[in-house]
Amino acid sequence: MDSNQKIASLLRDLASVQQSTQSKWGYKRAASAILNLDRPIEQYLLPDGTLRKIPNIGPSSTRVILEVLLTGRSATVDAAFADSPRADDDERTRGLRENFLSRAQVLEALADQRLRGPRLKDYRGDLQMHSTWSDGVETLETLIEACVVRGYGYCAITDHSYGLSIAGGVSMADLARQHQEIEALNTRFAGRFRMIKGIEANIRADGSVDMTNGELRTLELVVAAPHSALRTGSDQTARMIAAVRQQGVHILGHPRGRKLSTRPGVTANWDLVFEAAAESGVAVEIDGDPSRQDIDFTLAKRAIQAGCLFALDSDAHSSRELEYAETAVAHARLAGVPKARVINTWEVDRLLSWAAERSSVKTRRRSTTRRPRV
Ligand SMILES: [Zn+2]
Repeated sequence: MDSNQKIASLLRDLASVQQSTQSKWGYKRAASAILNLDRPIEQYLLPDGTLRKIPNIGPSSTRVILEVLLTGRSATVDAAFADSPRADDDERTRGLRENFLSRAQVLEALADQRLRGPRLKDYRGDLQMHSTWSDGVETLETLIEACVVRGYGYCAITDHSYGLSIAGGVSMADLARQHQEIEALNTRFAGRFRMIKGIEANIRADGSVDMTNGELRTLELVVAAPHSALRTGSDQTARMIAAVRQQGVHILGHPRGRKLSTRPGVTANWDLVFEAAAESGVAVEIDGDPSRQDIDFTLAKRAIQAGCLFALDSDAHSSRELEYAETAVAHARLAGVPKARVINTWEVDRLLSWAAERSSVKTRRRSTTRRPRV
């Protein structure tokens, strides 16, 4: 674990045992500030043993940082936990921070020439993002412009399906209106940028997605992702295998559904899930949202072994968050994912024909199996 990650974890631990909301919030904000630093925290240490000023880091957090930099641990955190009834609880949350990268580690992985795997300049488009049509904060047009600035040739808009009302899931009527808007934008940006009609469908408890096959066929790209049963320890291998075998699904989105420090996500035999994904031709996503990083580089190595394709996405809810794709690329580089297996490195025509072909292959395979009529 790098120092940025280690110190951020300690500050989060401290936040969890604070009595006042204000100091809880202060430590949490300091933890995020450390995770978002571009460089290792060691570089902020001045020759006189003090710390260079970092926004959102107050005196109490600075003390913890200096303790760790100078002694390797924090006496302040140790003392806080010695008499905290919540110590066990926090042992548990530490397990929820495994294989998360700090921003400094992301930048290091992107710059490290020894790593194989996709480079940022190979990345042609982002395949999971949300707009004002569901729980995102920006319009389709603003997102396109931000993608163009990042040098992309395409993106998929994947607002939540109607089944996920908590995230402002988009109704089929609204989806039809969104598609008209996308077509108009694609005409305007023709030759420069292509917006792909996508959706983030929700994987139900039984592994089916919350849209009918006919509804899925109105879309060019379907990301299926779990949003429930993310804290249970019971095995959900069957659920995830059913999801990747479902007709019309292209990407298994944030497969685990884990969240930094708060929830472990789906428990499954991932090697079996990845085998099923590879067999169905479904791409496994590395979701680059810093609080998700799902799947991470260790699981991605196993998905490479299984023969999977990969989608490296930001899961952005605003144009500023498009940068999250860099976290996904960093994990892919650390895992050594071959560039050819990353669908975001493909030309848009190839991507679209893969998506169309994948759906039709599934349909043919399904139609040859006899199903009882009910
Ligand atoms: Zn999601």
